[in-house]
Amino acid sequence: MGRKFFVGGNWKCNGTFDEVKKIVNILNEGQVPSQDVVEVVVSPPYVFIPVVKSLLRPDFHVAAQNCWVKKGGAFTGEVSAEMLVNLEVPWVILGHSERRLILGESNEFVADKVAYALSQGLKVIACVGETLEQREAGTTVEVVAAQTKAITEKVKDWTNIVLAYEPVWAIGTGKVASPAQAQEVHSELRKWLQANVSSEVAASTRIIYGGSVNGANSKELAGQPDIDGFLVGGASLKPEFIDIIKSAE
Ligand code: PGA
Repeated sequence: MGRKFFVGGNWKCNGTFDEVKKIVNILNEGQVPSQDVVEVVVSPPYVFIPVVKSLLRPDFHVAAQNCWVKKGGAFTGEVSAEMLVNLEVPWVILGHSERRLILGESNEFVADKVAYALSQGLKVIACVGETLEQREAGTTVEVVAAQTKAITEKVKDWTNIVLAYEPVWAIGTGKVASPAQAQEVHSELRKWLQANVSSEVAASTRIIYGGSVNGANSKELAGQPDIDGFLVGGASLKPEFIDIIKSAE
C-alpha cells in the first residue's frame, strides 16, 4: 500500500499579520511536486488561520496546532474541534512535545483529544517522541510505544491519523536525528503498529519525522524506507520549506 509523502509546517507561536502574509506568498509561488506525490499542510497560530486559509494555494491545506479535548462550552481560552470543522480546517496537530512537557498533557489526555478530534471529522497529526534523558536511558522505543498505545486504546480507525515521531532533543536545537536514528525508531513504531493494531494500519499509516529538519538534511532523511514525510518547525517559516517539500520526489 503506497504511503503518500506528507510535509507539515508547524509555525508554532510565531509571526505577525504581515509576516504570515509573506510566508503564504512564498508558499504560493513555490514550484513543488503535485498533490499526487506530496500532501502539504501548514499550521498557523489560531488567529491567523482564516487569513491563511483565504490566501493559501488550494493544493496546500491548513492545520490547527491544538484543540480542546471534548465538545466546546465553558472552557476559557480553548478552541473546539467543532469550531475547526465549522471553519473547514481539515487537520489538527495533537500531542506536540511542547504541549506535553510545558502544559503537562499526559498520554491519556492526548489520546482523548485524538479520539474526539477524529470523531468530529478532523484529520490528526499525532506527535510522539522521547526526551534526551529517556534516549540516554535506552527507553526511546518504550516511550514512543506507550504514547502510541494510549492512542490505540481510544481509536480504532487509523485512516485519518499521521504519526509524527519528534525526538524532543532534536526539536529547535539544530541537532537533527541522523537518518539511521530516525529510521530505527520509525521502523520500531511500524512494527509496534503491526503487532498491536494490524498489518494494514502498519503498512498504510504515514510516520513522519520532526526535529531540526531543513532544506539541507531533508533529502537524505526522506530516502529512509519508513520516513514518510516531515513535521517542520523553524524551517517552515523560511523559503527552504519549499526545498523540504521537494524532497518528496
Ligand atoms: P523544529 O520543530 O523543526 O524547529 O525543530 C519541529 C517541531 O516541533 O514540530
